[in-house]
Order: sequence, then C-alpha cells, then structure tokens
Amino acid sequence: MKIALKKLNFTMGPVMIEPSIRDIGAEQVPYFRTKDFSKLMLENEALLKKFLSADTETRIISLTGSGTSGMEATVINTLNEKDKVLIVNGGGFGKRFVQLCQLHHIPYEEICLPGGRGITSSDLEPYDGKGFTAFLVNHHETSTGVLYNMEVIASFCRKNSCFLIVDAISSFLADEFQMERWGVNAVITGSQKAYAIPPGLSLIALDARAQERVMKNTVHSLYFDFKLYLKDGERGQTPFTPAVGILIQLNCRLNQINTRGFDKELQKTADLAADFRKGIKQLSYRIASDSLSNSLTPLFVPEKVDAYQIFEMLEEQYQIWVCPSGGELRNRLLRIGHIGDLTLEDNDILIRALKDILENKM
Ligand SMILES: *Cc1c(COP(=O)(O)O)cnc(C)c1O
Repeated sequence: MKIALKKLNFTMGPVMIEPSIRDIGAEQVPYFRTKDFSKLMLENEALLKKFLSADTETRIISLTGSGTSGMEATVINTLNEKDKVLIVNGGGFGKRFVQLCQLHHIPYEEICLPGGRGITSSDLEPYDGKGFTAFLVNHHETSTGVLYNMEVIASFCRKNSCFLIVDAISSFLADEFQMERWGVNAVITGSQKAYAIPPGLSLIALDARAQERVMKNTVHSLYFDFKLYLKDGERGQTPFTPAVGILIQLNCRLNQINTRGFDKELQKTADLAADFRKGIKQLSYRIASDSLSNSLTPLFVPEKVDAYQIFEMLEEQYQIWVCPSGGELRNRLLRIGHIGDLTLEDNDILIRALKDILENKM
C-alpha cells in the first residue's frame, strides 16, 4: 500500500517538517545510555523551559506516546480521588479530560462552553469559593479553534488555590505561553503539532508543586509513573527506551528555534494565520471562533455546502490536506492549520482551491 505523501498539509498534525529535520529521520538511531544522549536530553529540558517561560525548579518529562498519553499520565500522577476538579469542556479535547477523570475516579465538575466561544470571568464566577482543588483546561480547544484566556483562568486558580494543569498541545510554539506568570503547575505538549517533528512524543513540564504531588501520589501504572522519569531525568535519562530518533529531531528543532529567535517563530505562525484570514474574507466561508489561536482557523462553510465533501475534494483533486471535523460539526466545519513548514504561497494555493470549489464544483 502506497500512501501519497506529497500533499500540501494544513492539518493540525502531523504537519510538514523542514528538510533538515526530516533528514535526521533517515539516519541510524544511536544507542542512548550514553553521556552524549544525556547531554542532549538536558539541553532539550533547558530550551523547553525557556520557551515555556518556566521557573528554574520546573522539570521536563519526555514521554513516548502521543499527546493523549501525556494528558492521561499527568492526570493520574498529579490528581487522585481526594481532589475536586474543575474542567473546561468546550469541545472534543475538553471532553477527553472529562473521560480521563471518569475513568480514574477523580471527582470533577465541568464548565460546558459552547463551541467557538472564549472564556470570561463570569463563566467562572459560579465556581468561585466552592472548594475546587484542581483546574483542567486545553489552552487551545483544537476541535473548535478556541484559545482560552489564561489570565482569566490564572486569576481564578490563584484565588482558589487550584492546582492548574494546562494542555497546550496545539498552542505551544504557536501562541505565547507564560508558565510562571500564569502559575501553571503542569503543561502538556505533543511533538506532531507546532514542534513540527514526527508524532510519538509528549513533553510535559512540572513545576515544584506538581513534582510534590507526583512524589506523594500512588500511580497504578509502571510505564506512566512520573517518579521514575523525574529520578532518571536528573541525569538526562528515561526509565524505558524513548523514541530516540524523535528526541534527536526535537533537539535539532529546539536549537533551530533558539537560533532564529523564539519570538520570530511565533510571529511566523501569526503572519501565516493573519494572511490566510485576510485572504479568506473575499469568500463566503465564515470564521467560527471569537478567540483564535495562531495555530488554526476554524471555518464554517456556506450553507448548502458540505464541509466533509470539501475536505475530500481538497485531498483528491487539489492534493491538499485540511482537518475535517467530527460529530455534529462534520458537515459544517473545516479547520485550517497554520503550523509546520508552510509559506504564504501555500496559503494562496489553498485559498484559490477553496474559491474554485465554491465557484465551480458545488
Ligand atoms: C492533538 C491534541 C491532543 C492530543 O492528541 P494525540 O492524537 O493524542 O496526539 C490533545 N489535546 C489537544 C488540544 C490537541 O490539539
């Protein structure tokens, strides 16, 4: 079975990878219980802390698994049945935190927000002073393209002394993240989004309070027990064989961002998003969120037009991938990613295709 690989990829991951990072994937994978690999891992940790604006005590866990493994591991390592958790549920990924709490018997309540709408302090008011011990949120709810206002959430958590876990999987390296200033205790990220390296890694940042929770908690899992990762991580190692090749690609990518300038990297994605949003204005697609991330533009298709059919046409007739939507939004919402190795010219190609479909194919 041969899969076409050379499509223009505007999805939310895996995304297009720069040639110099891709080339590493063709190399031999080295043995990893070595001083050199430990050094590489410690450099990854230092650069990630810098890009997260984390405090000095923060530690990074490199977990082999997709973003969801990072979500589940963080939940079971830092929370337990004595917590009372508040979950922002504005779509598919908020719901995933709900499922994790259900499965692991962690008491929770959810704030259900309508898709496409950001969070305000009045959404949080009813939960103030109600004894919540922890707060779970997806910084960017990727299913509907909503970036949640972290200042609002941070101030609620500070006031209520909530332990704050943030899934920044689709926003990190595309939008600003201020771990220390926002008082975020645990941050979850994933390699195939704006890192723009292959899928298979979840990088998790834990501040001192999170590390303390990990050390006190009992985890009914061997592979996902963060105690082991924290211990071995002190010397730049992991308890089990990690995705060695992807960690090397991560190191190359983080150094690349550091050399080019972290702000420039965010700006590149912001510019791509702004250019696309400007270009789409002439067409009758409608932007579906009032609080956008740089990483994604959610688009309602015009009435009487089927979003899933457009997704298929783009793939088959124009060699372009965008993200379709699931559930109720399947036939209404397309999601256009701006992360990965994309250019302004690529935007022009996509906009021309979206225009052509509406004018000539529907
Ligand atoms: C992509 C994503 C995930 C993780 O998905 P995986 O398929 O497990 O990598 C989790 N949360 C958000 C907000 C995401 O965008």
